[in-house]
Amino acid sequence: MTDAPSPNNFIRQIIDADLAAGKHAAGIVTRFPPEPNGYLHIGHAKSICLNFGIARDYGGHCNLRFDDTNPEKESVEYLDSIKEDVRWLGFDWGTHLYHAADYFEQLYEWACKLIRDGKAFVCDLTPDEIRETRGTLTKPGTDSPYRHRSVEENLDLFRRMRAGEFPDGAKVLRAKIDMAAANLSLRDPVMYRLRRATHHRTGDQWCLYPMYDWAHGQSDALEGITHSICTLEFEIHRPLYDWYLEQVAPPHRPRQFEFARLNMTYTIMSKRMLLELVQDRHVSGWDDPRMPTLAGLRRRGIRPEAIRLFCDRIGVARADSTVDMELLENSVREDLNTIVPRVLCVHRPLRVVLENYPTDLVEEIELPYFPDDPPKMGTRKVPFSGALFIEQDDFLENPPKKFFRLSPGKEVRLRGCYVIKCTGVVKDERTGEVVELRATYDPETRTDAPKDGRKIGGTIHWVSAAHSVPVQVRLYDRLFSVPNPAAGEADFKTHLNPSSLEVLPDARAERSVGEAKPGDRFQFERRGFYVADMKDSRPGAPVFNRIVSLRDSWAKVAKAGGA
Ligand code: ATP
Ligand code: MG
Repeated sequence: MTDAPSPNNFIRQIIDADLAAGKHAAGIVTRFPPEPNGYLHIGHAKSICLNFGIARDYGGHCNLRFDDTNPEKESVEYLDSIKEDVRWLGFDWGTHLYHAADYFEQLYEWACKLIRDGKAFVCDLTPDEIRETRGTLTKPGTDSPYRHRSVEENLDLFRRMRAGEFPDGAKVLRAKIDMAAANLSLRDPVMYRLRRATHHRTGDQWCLYPMYDWAHGQSDALEGITHSICTLEFEIHRPLYDWYLEQVAPPHRPRQFEFARLNMTYTIMSKRMLLELVQDRHVSGWDDPRMPTLAGLRRRGIRPEAIRLFCDRIGVARADSTVDMELLENSVREDLNTIVPRVLCVHRPLRVVLENYPTDLVEEIELPYFPDDPPKMGTRKVPFSGALFIEQDDFLENPPKKFFRLSPGKEVRLRGCYVIKCTGVVKDERTGEVVELRATYDPETRTDAPKDGRKIGGTIHWVSAAHSVPVQVRLYDRLFSVPNPAAGEADFKTHLNPSSLEVLPDARAERSVGEAKPGDRFQFERRGFYVADMKDSRPGAPVFNRIVSLRDSWAKVAKAGGA
Protein backbone atom coordinates (compact mmCIF):
# COMPACT_ATOMS: atom_id res chain seq x y z
CA MET A 1 0.00 0.00 0.00
CA THR A 2 1.30 3.48 -0.84
CA ASP A 3 1.29 6.08 1.89
CA ALA A 4 0.66 9.61 0.56
CA PRO A 5 -3.02 10.52 1.02
CA SER A 6 -5.02 11.25 -2.12
CA PRO A 7 -6.82 14.53 -2.75
CA ASN A 8 -10.30 15.15 -1.41
CA ASN A 9 -13.40 14.30 -3.47
CA PHE A 10 -17.16 14.11 -2.98
CA ILE A 11 -17.05 10.51 -1.78
CA ARG A 12 -14.47 11.36 0.86
CA GLN A 13 -16.70 14.24 1.93
CA ILE A 14 -19.58 11.80 2.38
CA ILE A 15 -17.36 9.55 4.47
CA ASP A 16 -16.19 12.50 6.55
CA ALA A 17 -19.81 13.45 7.20
CA ASP A 18 -20.70 9.85 8.09
CA LEU A 19 -17.83 9.64 10.55
CA ALA A 20 -18.72 13.00 12.05
CA ALA A 21 -22.25 11.67 12.56
CA GLY A 22 -20.82 8.73 14.46
CA LYS A 23 -21.51 6.12 11.78
CA HIS A 24 -19.25 3.20 10.85
CA ALA A 25 -17.58 2.91 14.24
CA ALA A 26 -16.16 -0.44 13.16
CA GLY A 27 -14.25 1.21 10.30
CA ILE A 28 -14.63 2.06 6.64
CA VAL A 29 -14.85 -0.91 4.28
CA THR A 30 -14.71 -0.50 0.50
CA ARG A 31 -14.22 -3.02 -2.26
CA PHE A 32 -12.94 -3.33 -5.78
CA PRO A 33 -15.15 -5.86 -7.59
CA PRO A 34 -13.75 -6.81 -11.00
CA GLU A 35 -15.31 -9.46 -13.15
CA PRO A 36 -12.45 -11.80 -14.13
CA ASN A 37 -13.32 -11.65 -17.83
CA GLY A 38 -10.34 -9.66 -19.07
CA TYR A 39 -7.28 -7.72 -17.97
CA LEU A 40 -7.56 -4.55 -15.92
CA HIS A 41 -7.17 -1.23 -17.70
CA ILE A 42 -6.40 2.35 -16.72
CA GLY A 43 -10.11 2.92 -16.01
CA HIS A 44 -9.98 0.18 -13.39
CA ALA A 45 -6.91 1.90 -11.95
CA LYS A 46 -9.10 4.90 -11.20
CA SER A 47 -11.48 2.67 -9.24
CA ILE A 48 -8.63 0.84 -7.50
CA CYS A 49 -6.92 4.07 -6.44
CA LEU A 50 -10.26 5.42 -5.21
CA ASN A 51 -11.31 2.34 -3.22
CA PHE A 52 -7.94 1.25 -1.87
CA GLY A 53 -6.96 4.89 -1.35
CA ILE A 54 -9.99 5.51 0.87
CA ALA A 55 -9.28 2.35 2.86
CA ARG A 56 -5.68 3.49 3.33
CA ASP A 57 -6.45 7.08 4.28
CA TYR A 58 -9.30 6.21 6.69
CA GLY A 59 -7.58 3.26 8.31
CA GLY A 60 -10.16 0.80 6.99
CA HIS A 61 -9.75 -1.97 4.47
CA CYS A 62 -10.62 -2.64 0.86
CA ASN A 63 -11.79 -6.05 -0.33
CA LEU A 64 -10.74 -7.51 -3.62
CA ARG A 65 -13.85 -9.32 -4.74
CA PHE A 66 -14.11 -11.27 -7.93
CA ASP A 67 -17.59 -10.83 -9.33
CA ASP A 68 -17.46 -14.23 -10.92
CA THR A 69 -21.07 -14.90 -11.87
CA ASN A 70 -20.43 -15.45 -15.59
CA PRO A 71 -18.49 -18.73 -15.97
CA GLU A 72 -18.36 -18.72 -19.77
CA LYS A 73 -16.37 -15.51 -20.01
CA GLU A 74 -14.14 -15.87 -16.99
CA SER A 75 -10.85 -17.63 -16.40
CA VAL A 76 -8.07 -18.19 -13.91
CA GLU A 77 -5.67 -16.38 -16.23
CA TYR A 78 -7.73 -13.24 -15.81
CA LEU A 79 -8.04 -13.76 -12.07
CA ASP A 80 -4.29 -14.06 -11.67
CA SER A 81 -3.60 -11.06 -13.88
CA ILE A 82 -5.99 -8.92 -11.82
CA LYS A 83 -4.23 -9.83 -8.58
CA GLU A 84 -0.86 -9.11 -10.12
CA ASP A 85 -2.01 -5.75 -11.46
CA VAL A 86 -3.60 -4.55 -8.20
CA ARG A 87 -0.40 -5.43 -6.35
CA TRP A 88 1.74 -3.80 -8.99
CA LEU A 89 -0.28 -0.60 -8.63
CA GLY A 90 0.86 -0.61 -5.01
CA PHE A 91 -2.20 -1.86 -3.17
CA ASP A 92 -2.79 -4.78 -0.88
CA TRP A 93 -6.05 -6.47 0.08
CA GLY A 94 -4.34 -8.38 2.89
CA THR A 95 -6.66 -11.20 3.94
CA HIS A 96 -9.66 -9.63 2.23
CA LEU A 97 -9.88 -11.65 -0.96
CA TYR A 98 -13.40 -12.77 -1.86
CA HIS A 99 -15.36 -14.41 -4.65
CA ALA A 100 -19.03 -13.89 -5.42
CA ALA A 101 -19.06 -17.63 -6.23
CA ASP A 102 -18.49 -18.34 -2.54
CA TYR A 103 -21.89 -16.73 -1.87
CA PHE A 104 -23.84 -18.87 -4.34
CA GLU A 105 -25.33 -21.03 -1.60
CA GLN A 106 -26.35 -18.04 0.54
CA LEU A 107 -27.77 -16.27 -2.52
CA TYR A 108 -29.75 -19.40 -3.37
CA GLU A 109 -31.24 -19.48 0.12
CA TRP A 110 -32.13 -15.82 -0.06
CA ALA A 111 -33.76 -16.40 -3.44
CA CYS A 112 -35.88 -19.14 -1.81
CA LYS A 113 -36.88 -16.62 0.85
CA LEU A 114 -38.02 -14.22 -1.87
CA ILE A 115 -40.06 -17.02 -3.43
CA ARG A 116 -41.63 -17.88 -0.06
CA ASP A 117 -42.46 -14.20 0.45
CA GLY A 118 -44.16 -14.14 -2.96
CA LYS A 119 -41.43 -11.83 -4.32
CA ALA A 120 -39.95 -14.11 -6.98
CA PHE A 121 -41.24 -16.61 -9.52
CA VAL A 122 -40.00 -19.13 -12.05
CA CYS A 123 -40.71 -17.94 -15.58
CA ASP A 124 -40.75 -20.12 -18.72
CA LEU A 125 -40.65 -17.26 -21.25
CA THR A 126 -37.71 -17.33 -23.62
CA PRO A 127 -35.10 -14.55 -23.37
CA ASP A 128 -36.64 -12.98 -26.48
CA GLU A 129 -40.12 -13.09 -25.02
CA ILE A 130 -38.89 -11.52 -21.82
CA ARG A 131 -37.31 -8.71 -23.82
CA GLU A 132 -40.45 -8.21 -25.91
CA THR A 133 -42.78 -8.04 -22.90
CA ARG A 134 -40.55 -5.66 -21.00
CA GLY A 135 -42.05 -2.52 -22.54
CA THR A 136 -40.14 0.68 -23.20
CA LEU A 137 -39.42 3.94 -21.43
CA THR A 138 -42.82 5.22 -22.57
CA LYS A 139 -44.78 1.94 -22.55
CA PRO A 140 -45.28 -0.34 -19.52
CA GLY A 141 -44.35 -3.99 -19.80
CA THR A 142 -46.80 -6.87 -19.60
CA ASP A 143 -46.96 -9.46 -16.85
CA SER A 144 -45.52 -12.87 -17.55
CA PRO A 145 -48.19 -15.59 -17.77
CA TYR A 146 -46.11 -17.46 -15.13
CA ARG A 147 -46.19 -14.59 -12.66
CA HIS A 148 -48.91 -16.13 -10.54
CA ARG A 149 -47.48 -19.56 -9.94
CA SER A 150 -47.93 -20.69 -6.37
CA VAL A 151 -45.11 -20.48 -3.85
CA GLU A 152 -45.00 -24.29 -3.68
CA GLU A 153 -44.72 -24.67 -7.44
CA ASN A 154 -42.04 -21.98 -7.61
CA LEU A 155 -40.01 -23.53 -4.81
CA ASP A 156 -40.25 -26.93 -6.45
CA LEU A 157 -39.29 -25.64 -9.90
CA PHE A 158 -36.42 -23.57 -8.54
CA ARG A 159 -35.06 -26.56 -6.66
CA ARG A 160 -35.30 -28.63 -9.82
CA MET A 161 -33.59 -25.89 -11.83
CA ARG A 162 -30.70 -26.18 -9.44
CA ALA A 163 -30.77 -29.98 -9.71
CA GLY A 164 -30.30 -29.71 -13.47
CA GLU A 165 -33.70 -31.00 -14.58
CA PHE A 166 -34.19 -28.35 -17.25
CA PRO A 167 -32.07 -27.42 -20.24
CA ASP A 168 -30.26 -24.09 -20.45
CA GLY A 169 -32.61 -21.27 -21.36
CA ALA A 170 -35.79 -23.20 -20.44
CA LYS A 171 -36.51 -21.31 -17.25
CA VAL A 172 -35.33 -18.32 -15.24
CA LEU A 173 -36.11 -17.02 -11.79
CA ARG A 174 -37.48 -13.48 -11.84
CA ALA A 175 -38.13 -11.00 -9.08
CA LYS A 176 -41.79 -10.04 -8.82
CA ILE A 177 -41.74 -6.25 -8.63
CA ASP A 178 -43.71 -4.14 -11.09
CA MET A 179 -43.98 -4.49 -14.87
CA ALA A 180 -45.20 -0.89 -15.06
CA ALA A 181 -42.33 0.60 -13.03
CA ALA A 182 -40.87 3.73 -14.62
CA ASN A 183 -37.39 2.31 -13.96
CA LEU A 184 -36.99 -0.58 -16.39
CA SER A 185 -34.63 -2.45 -14.09
CA LEU A 186 -37.59 -2.96 -11.71
CA ARG A 187 -39.74 -4.74 -14.32
CA ASP A 188 -39.50 -8.26 -12.92
CA PRO A 189 -35.75 -8.57 -13.53
CA VAL A 190 -34.13 -11.95 -14.04
CA MET A 191 -32.31 -13.19 -10.93
CA TYR A 192 -31.07 -16.58 -12.13
CA ARG A 193 -30.43 -18.30 -15.43
CA LEU A 194 -29.40 -21.85 -16.34
CA ARG A 195 -25.92 -22.31 -17.77
CA ARG A 196 -24.14 -25.61 -18.27
CA ALA A 197 -20.67 -24.15 -17.87
CA THR A 198 -17.76 -25.16 -15.72
CA HIS A 199 -16.94 -22.42 -13.27
CA HIS A 200 -13.29 -21.76 -12.44
CA ARG A 201 -14.11 -21.87 -8.73
CA THR A 202 -17.21 -24.02 -8.25
CA GLY A 203 -16.57 -26.43 -11.11
CA ASP A 204 -19.77 -28.19 -12.19
CA GLN A 205 -21.46 -27.78 -8.83
CA TRP A 206 -23.93 -25.26 -10.24
CA CYS A 207 -25.88 -24.95 -13.45
CA LEU A 208 -27.87 -22.11 -11.95
CA TYR A 209 -26.06 -18.77 -11.96
CA PRO A 210 -27.14 -15.51 -10.31
CA MET A 211 -27.34 -12.33 -12.39
CA TYR A 212 -24.87 -9.63 -11.52
CA ASP A 213 -27.61 -7.32 -10.22
CA TRP A 214 -28.79 -9.96 -7.76
CA ALA A 215 -25.31 -10.96 -6.57
CA HIS A 216 -23.93 -7.47 -6.28
CA GLY A 217 -25.71 -5.80 -3.33
CA GLN A 218 -25.95 -9.04 -1.33
CA SER A 219 -22.20 -9.61 -1.74
CA ASP A 220 -21.56 -6.10 -0.42
CA ALA A 221 -23.88 -6.80 2.50
CA LEU A 222 -22.17 -10.11 3.33
CA GLU A 223 -18.76 -8.44 3.35
CA GLY A 224 -19.86 -5.53 5.52
CA ILE A 225 -19.05 -2.96 2.86
CA THR A 226 -19.82 0.51 4.21
CA HIS A 227 -19.37 2.46 0.99
CA SER A 228 -20.11 0.58 -2.19
CA ILE A 229 -18.59 2.76 -4.88
CA CYS A 230 -19.37 2.11 -8.51
CA THR A 231 -19.57 3.92 -11.82
CA LEU A 232 -22.48 6.06 -12.94
CA GLU A 233 -24.11 3.52 -15.24
CA PHE A 234 -25.19 1.62 -12.13
CA GLU A 235 -27.10 4.55 -10.68
CA ILE A 236 -30.22 3.46 -12.53
CA HIS A 237 -29.88 0.00 -10.94
CA ARG A 238 -29.68 1.35 -7.40
CA PRO A 239 -33.47 1.13 -6.77
CA LEU A 240 -33.26 -2.55 -7.69
CA TYR A 241 -30.29 -3.14 -5.38
CA ASP A 242 -32.20 -1.39 -2.63
CA TRP A 243 -35.31 -3.46 -3.31
CA TYR A 244 -33.33 -6.71 -3.06
CA LEU A 245 -31.72 -5.59 0.19
CA GLU A 246 -35.10 -4.70 1.64
CA GLN A 247 -36.42 -8.19 0.87
CA VAL A 248 -33.34 -9.97 2.14
CA ALA A 249 -32.92 -7.64 5.14
CA PRO A 250 -29.33 -8.64 5.93
CA PRO A 251 -27.90 -7.45 9.26
CA HIS A 252 -25.61 -5.03 7.45
CA ARG A 253 -26.73 -2.72 4.64
CA PRO A 254 -24.17 -1.11 2.34
CA ARG A 255 -24.76 2.26 0.74
CA GLN A 256 -23.95 2.77 -2.90
CA PHE A 257 -22.34 5.87 -4.42
CA GLU A 258 -21.66 6.44 -8.09
CA PHE A 259 -18.80 8.30 -9.73
CA ALA A 260 -17.90 9.03 -13.35
CA ARG A 261 -15.93 6.36 -15.10
CA LEU A 262 -12.67 7.24 -16.77
CA ASN A 263 -12.79 7.77 -20.51
CA MET A 264 -9.62 8.74 -22.31
CA THR A 265 -8.92 10.00 -25.81
CA TYR A 266 -7.26 7.81 -28.46
CA THR A 267 -8.05 4.59 -26.66
CA ILE A 268 -10.90 2.34 -25.55
CA MET A 269 -11.89 1.03 -22.13
CA SER A 270 -14.32 -1.70 -23.00
CA LYS A 271 -13.04 -5.15 -22.09
CA ARG A 272 -15.08 -6.63 -24.92
CA MET A 273 -13.32 -4.42 -27.47
CA LEU A 274 -9.91 -4.96 -25.91
CA LEU A 275 -10.49 -8.70 -26.11
CA GLU A 276 -11.39 -8.31 -29.78
CA LEU A 277 -8.07 -6.55 -30.45
CA VAL A 278 -6.23 -9.40 -28.76
CA GLN A 279 -8.19 -12.19 -30.46
CA ASP A 280 -7.94 -10.63 -33.91
CA ARG A 281 -4.23 -10.03 -33.38
CA HIS A 282 -4.30 -6.29 -33.91
CA VAL A 283 -1.99 -6.21 -30.91
CA SER A 284 0.51 -8.77 -29.65
CA GLY A 285 -1.53 -9.56 -26.52
CA TRP A 286 -3.16 -8.05 -23.44
CA ASP A 287 0.27 -6.69 -22.50
CA ASP A 288 1.02 -5.09 -25.84
CA PRO A 289 2.64 -1.76 -24.91
CA ARG A 290 -0.04 0.12 -26.87
CA MET A 291 -2.90 -1.33 -24.84
CA PRO A 292 -4.53 0.75 -22.07
CA THR A 293 -4.34 -2.35 -19.85
CA LEU A 294 -2.20 -2.18 -16.74
CA ALA A 295 -0.19 -5.08 -18.15
CA GLY A 296 0.35 -3.05 -21.34
CA LEU A 297 1.25 0.15 -19.53
CA ARG A 298 3.67 -1.80 -17.33
CA ARG A 299 5.35 -3.38 -20.33
CA ARG A 300 5.44 0.02 -21.98
CA GLY A 301 7.67 1.03 -19.07
CA ILE A 302 5.23 3.24 -17.17
CA ARG A 303 5.67 3.07 -13.40
CA PRO A 304 2.75 2.58 -10.99
CA GLU A 305 3.76 5.90 -9.40
CA ALA A 306 2.84 7.66 -12.65
CA ILE A 307 -0.55 5.99 -12.80
CA ARG A 308 -1.33 6.91 -9.20
CA LEU A 309 -0.24 10.48 -9.89
CA PHE A 310 -2.53 10.53 -12.92
CA CYS A 311 -5.46 9.16 -10.90
CA ASP A 312 -4.95 11.77 -8.20
CA ARG A 313 -4.88 14.48 -10.84
CA ILE A 314 -8.02 13.50 -12.74
CA GLY A 315 -9.92 13.38 -9.45
CA VAL A 316 -13.30 11.82 -8.84
CA ALA A 317 -16.46 13.56 -9.98
CA ARG A 318 -20.10 12.82 -10.71
CA ALA A 319 -20.15 14.13 -14.27
CA ASP A 320 -18.96 12.03 -17.17
CA SER A 321 -16.04 13.44 -19.10
CA THR A 322 -13.18 12.37 -21.29
CA VAL A 323 -9.63 12.86 -20.13
CA ASP A 324 -7.00 13.84 -22.64
CA MET A 325 -4.38 11.16 -23.17
CA GLU A 326 -1.79 13.91 -22.75
CA LEU A 327 -2.60 14.09 -19.08
CA LEU A 328 -1.41 10.52 -18.66
CA GLU A 329 1.64 11.18 -20.82
CA ASN A 330 2.50 14.24 -18.72
CA SER A 331 2.24 12.24 -15.50
CA VAL A 332 4.57 9.65 -17.00
CA ARG A 333 7.13 12.29 -18.01
CA GLU A 334 6.93 13.95 -14.65
CA ASP A 335 7.41 10.67 -12.83
CA LEU A 336 10.43 9.64 -14.90
CA ASN A 337 12.07 13.01 -15.42
CA THR A 338 14.19 13.17 -12.30
CA ILE A 339 14.85 9.48 -11.72
CA VAL A 340 15.92 8.17 -15.10
CA PRO A 341 19.50 8.58 -16.38
CA ARG A 342 20.05 10.36 -19.69
CA VAL A 343 22.12 8.72 -22.36
CA LEU A 344 22.72 9.00 -26.07
CA CYS A 345 21.02 6.84 -28.68
CA VAL A 346 20.87 7.56 -32.38
CA HIS A 347 17.67 6.13 -33.82
CA ARG A 348 18.30 6.43 -37.57
CA PRO A 349 22.06 6.65 -37.94
CA LEU A 350 23.86 8.84 -40.47
CA ARG A 351 27.61 8.39 -40.56
CA VAL A 352 29.86 11.44 -40.08
CA VAL A 353 33.58 11.24 -40.77
CA LEU A 354 35.72 13.93 -39.11
CA GLU A 355 38.46 14.65 -41.61
CA ASN A 356 40.79 16.48 -39.22
CA TYR A 357 40.44 14.11 -36.26
CA PRO A 358 43.65 12.15 -35.59
CA THR A 359 43.39 8.63 -37.00
CA ASP A 360 43.08 6.00 -34.28
CA LEU A 361 42.51 8.54 -31.53
CA VAL A 362 39.71 7.66 -29.14
CA GLU A 363 38.81 10.10 -26.37
CA GLU A 364 36.73 9.21 -23.35
CA ILE A 365 34.20 11.97 -22.78
CA GLU A 366 32.86 12.11 -19.25
CA LEU A 367 29.15 12.90 -19.34
CA PRO A 368 26.78 13.26 -16.39
CA TYR A 369 23.76 10.94 -16.31
CA PHE A 370 21.65 13.83 -15.13
CA PRO A 371 22.94 17.08 -16.66
CA ASP A 372 20.51 19.25 -14.66
CA ASP A 373 22.14 18.10 -11.42
CA PRO A 374 25.34 16.19 -12.26
CA PRO A 375 26.19 14.88 -8.77
CA LYS A 376 22.77 13.27 -8.50
CA MET A 377 23.43 10.25 -10.70
CA GLY A 378 27.16 10.46 -11.40
CA THR A 379 28.85 10.20 -14.78
CA ARG A 380 29.97 7.69 -17.36
CA LYS A 381 32.63 7.79 -20.05
CA VAL A 382 31.47 7.87 -23.64
CA PRO A 383 34.04 7.10 -26.34
CA PHE A 384 34.55 9.68 -29.08
CA SER A 385 36.31 8.98 -32.36
CA GLY A 386 36.71 10.28 -35.92
CA ALA A 387 33.71 8.32 -37.20
CA LEU A 388 30.38 9.11 -35.60
CA PHE A 389 26.69 8.52 -36.06
CA ILE A 390 24.20 11.33 -35.83
CA GLU A 391 20.47 11.30 -36.43
CA GLN A 392 19.48 11.41 -40.11
CA ASP A 393 17.00 14.17 -39.42
CA ASP A 394 19.66 16.30 -37.74
CA PHE A 395 21.05 17.00 -41.19
CA LEU A 396 19.41 18.84 -44.06
CA GLU A 397 21.17 19.63 -47.28
CA ASN A 398 18.90 22.59 -47.98
CA PRO A 399 17.74 23.74 -44.59
CA PRO A 400 15.02 26.27 -43.94
CA LYS A 401 15.86 29.34 -41.86
CA LYS A 402 16.12 28.58 -38.14
CA PHE A 403 17.26 25.01 -38.72
CA PHE A 404 19.73 24.83 -35.85
CA ARG A 405 21.16 21.48 -36.75
CA LEU A 406 23.71 20.40 -39.31
CA SER A 407 23.84 21.46 -42.96
CA PRO A 408 26.65 22.05 -45.47
CA GLY A 409 29.03 24.74 -44.23
CA LYS A 410 27.21 25.02 -40.89
CA GLU A 411 28.31 24.17 -37.37
CA VAL A 412 26.62 22.31 -34.58
CA ARG A 413 27.60 21.31 -31.04
CA LEU A 414 27.78 17.61 -30.27
CA ARG A 415 26.19 17.01 -26.89
CA GLY A 416 28.79 17.38 -24.13
CA CYS A 417 31.58 17.54 -26.68
CA TYR A 418 33.07 19.29 -29.72
CA VAL A 419 31.65 21.68 -32.27
CA ILE A 420 31.72 20.20 -35.77
CA LYS A 421 31.25 21.76 -39.19
CA CYS A 422 29.84 19.95 -42.20
CA THR A 423 32.26 20.11 -45.10
CA GLY A 424 30.84 17.60 -47.56
CA VAL A 425 28.05 15.23 -48.45
CA VAL A 426 28.47 11.71 -49.85
CA LYS A 427 25.49 10.41 -51.79
CA ASP A 428 24.40 7.09 -53.17
CA GLU A 429 25.06 7.49 -56.89
CA ARG A 430 21.92 5.67 -57.86
CA THR A 431 19.36 7.01 -55.44
CA GLY A 432 20.83 10.40 -54.56
CA GLU A 433 20.31 9.58 -50.90
CA VAL A 434 22.77 11.09 -48.42
CA VAL A 435 24.79 8.19 -47.01
CA GLU A 436 27.65 9.93 -45.21
CA LEU A 437 28.78 13.38 -44.15
CA ARG A 438 32.25 14.80 -44.07
CA ALA A 439 33.02 17.26 -41.31
CA THR A 440 35.78 18.91 -39.32
CA TYR A 441 35.89 19.37 -35.59
CA ASP A 442 37.14 22.38 -33.67
CA PRO A 443 39.64 20.99 -31.13
CA GLU A 444 39.28 24.10 -28.96
CA THR A 445 35.63 23.48 -28.23
CA ARG A 446 35.51 20.24 -26.30
CA THR A 447 34.46 21.96 -23.10
CA ASP A 448 34.45 25.61 -24.11
CA ALA A 449 32.56 27.96 -26.38
CA PRO A 450 34.43 28.88 -29.57
CA LYS A 451 37.29 31.27 -28.78
CA ASP A 452 36.35 33.77 -31.47
CA GLY A 453 32.93 34.23 -29.94
CA ARG A 454 30.99 32.81 -32.89
CA LYS A 455 27.58 31.50 -31.98
CA ILE A 456 26.68 27.82 -32.34
CA GLY A 457 23.00 27.36 -33.05
CA GLY A 458 22.14 23.95 -31.68
CA THR A 459 23.23 20.79 -29.96
CA ILE A 460 22.66 17.29 -31.30
CA HIS A 461 23.27 13.84 -29.92
CA TRP A 462 25.82 11.41 -31.33
CA VAL A 463 27.65 8.16 -30.75
CA SER A 464 31.00 6.90 -31.93
CA ALA A 465 30.46 4.51 -34.85
CA ALA A 466 32.93 1.89 -33.68
CA HIS A 467 32.15 2.14 -29.97
CA SER A 468 28.41 2.28 -29.99
CA VAL A 469 26.18 -0.77 -29.64
CA PRO A 470 23.38 -1.82 -31.96
CA VAL A 471 19.97 -1.71 -30.30
CA GLN A 472 16.45 -2.26 -31.48
CA VAL A 473 14.09 0.59 -30.76
CA ARG A 474 10.31 0.30 -30.88
CA LEU A 475 8.49 3.57 -31.22
CA TYR A 476 4.98 3.26 -29.84
CA ASP A 477 2.32 5.77 -30.63
CA ARG A 478 -1.36 6.06 -29.84
CA LEU A 479 -3.35 2.96 -30.67
CA PHE A 480 -6.09 4.87 -32.45
CA SER A 481 -5.85 7.80 -34.81
CA VAL A 482 -9.06 9.50 -33.68
CA PRO A 483 -9.85 10.87 -30.20
CA ASN A 484 -12.97 8.75 -29.70
CA PRO A 485 -12.66 5.49 -31.64
CA ALA A 486 -15.70 3.87 -30.02
CA ALA A 487 -18.07 6.66 -31.05
CA GLY A 488 -20.03 6.69 -34.28
CA GLU A 489 -21.26 4.07 -36.68
CA ALA A 490 -17.99 2.64 -37.98
CA ASP A 491 -16.34 -0.38 -36.40
CA PHE A 492 -13.86 0.95 -33.84
CA LYS A 493 -11.13 -1.13 -35.48
CA THR A 494 -11.25 1.01 -38.62
CA HIS A 495 -9.73 3.78 -36.49
CA LEU A 496 -6.65 1.81 -35.47
CA ASN A 497 -3.56 3.96 -36.01
CA PRO A 498 -1.55 2.19 -38.75
CA SER A 499 1.70 3.71 -37.44
CA SER A 500 1.16 2.94 -33.77
CA LEU A 501 4.33 0.83 -33.85
CA GLU A 502 7.50 1.59 -35.75
CA VAL A 503 10.45 -0.73 -35.29
CA LEU A 504 13.92 0.72 -35.79
CA PRO A 505 16.24 -2.26 -36.10
CA ASP A 506 19.47 -0.31 -36.66
CA ALA A 507 19.59 2.19 -33.84
CA ARG A 508 22.93 2.79 -32.13
CA ALA A 509 23.33 3.56 -28.46
CA GLU A 510 26.33 4.59 -26.41
CA ARG A 511 28.31 1.73 -24.96
CA SER A 512 26.94 2.04 -21.41
CA VAL A 513 23.48 1.01 -22.58
CA GLY A 514 24.53 -2.30 -24.11
CA GLU A 515 24.24 -4.31 -20.93
CA ALA A 516 20.84 -2.92 -19.93
CA LYS A 517 18.70 -5.42 -18.05
CA PRO A 518 15.03 -5.93 -18.86
CA GLY A 519 13.10 -3.17 -17.11
CA ASP A 520 16.00 -0.67 -17.06
CA ARG A 521 14.87 2.79 -18.06
CA PHE A 522 16.73 5.58 -19.82
CA GLN A 523 16.05 8.94 -21.26
CA PHE A 524 17.54 8.93 -24.74
CA GLU A 525 18.42 12.57 -25.03
CA ARG A 526 16.18 14.58 -27.31
CA ARG A 527 14.05 11.49 -28.06
CA GLY A 528 12.13 10.40 -25.02
CA PHE A 529 11.94 7.88 -22.21
CA TYR A 530 12.63 4.21 -22.94
CA VAL A 531 12.60 0.89 -21.17
CA ALA A 532 14.41 -2.33 -22.01
CA ASP A 533 11.53 -4.66 -22.87
CA MET A 534 10.68 -7.21 -20.18
CA LYS A 535 10.16 -10.02 -22.67
CA ASP A 536 12.38 -9.42 -25.66
CA SER A 537 15.39 -7.54 -24.32
CA ARG A 538 18.50 -9.03 -22.78
CA PRO A 539 21.90 -7.72 -21.77
CA GLY A 540 24.08 -7.60 -24.87
CA ALA A 541 21.08 -7.42 -27.21
CA PRO A 542 18.84 -4.69 -25.90
CA VAL A 543 15.36 -3.96 -27.24
CA PHE A 544 13.90 -0.66 -26.11
CA ASN A 545 10.28 0.42 -25.95
CA ARG A 546 9.63 4.11 -26.15
CA ILE A 547 7.57 4.89 -23.06
CA VAL A 548 6.78 8.45 -24.06
CA SER A 549 8.40 11.07 -26.22
CA LEU A 550 9.81 14.30 -24.83
CA ARG A 551 7.55 17.24 -25.22
CA ASP A 552 9.01 19.75 -27.62
CA SER A 553 12.49 18.42 -26.96
CA TRP A 554 14.12 20.31 -29.75
CA ALA A 555 13.05 23.75 -28.52
CA LYS A 556 14.54 22.99 -25.12
CA VAL A 557 17.92 21.88 -26.36
CA ALA A 558 18.11 24.81 -28.80
CA LYS A 559 17.39 27.28 -26.02
CA ALA A 560 19.97 25.79 -23.72
CA GLY A 561 22.52 26.26 -26.54
CA GLY A 562 26.15 25.13 -26.16
CA ALA A 563 27.04 21.83 -24.54
P1 ATP B 1 -17.11 -4.19 -19.04
O1 ATP B 1 -16.02 -3.54 -19.83
O2 ATP B 1 -17.27 -5.63 -19.36
O3 ATP B 1 -18.38 -3.39 -18.94
P2 ATP B 1 -16.43 -3.26 -16.42
O4 ATP B 1 -15.64 -2.13 -16.98
O5 ATP B 1 -17.71 -2.99 -15.70
O6 ATP B 1 -16.66 -4.33 -17.56
P3 ATP B 1 -15.60 -4.72 -14.11
O7 ATP B 1 -14.61 -5.81 -14.03
O8 ATP B 1 -16.98 -5.02 -13.76
O9 ATP B 1 -15.47 -4.13 -15.56
O10 ATP B 1 -15.09 -3.48 -13.28
C1 ATP B 1 -14.66 -3.55 -11.95
C2 ATP B 1 -14.79 -2.21 -11.30
O11 ATP B 1 -14.05 -1.24 -12.03
C3 ATP B 1 -16.22 -1.74 -11.28
O12 ATP B 1 -16.51 -1.26 -9.99
C4 ATP B 1 -16.28 -0.67 -12.30
O13 ATP B 1 -17.20 0.32 -11.91
C5 ATP B 1 -14.86 -0.13 -12.30
N1 ATP B 1 -14.52 0.39 -13.62
C6 ATP B 1 -14.57 -0.26 -14.79
N2 ATP B 1 -14.26 0.55 -15.81
C7 ATP B 1 -13.99 1.77 -15.27
C8 ATP B 1 -13.60 3.04 -15.80
N3 ATP B 1 -13.43 3.22 -17.11
N4 ATP B 1 -13.41 4.05 -14.94
C9 ATP B 1 -13.58 3.87 -13.62
N5 ATP B 1 -13.94 2.71 -13.06
C10 ATP B 1 -14.15 1.66 -13.86
MG1 MG C 1 -18.87 -4.68 -14.76
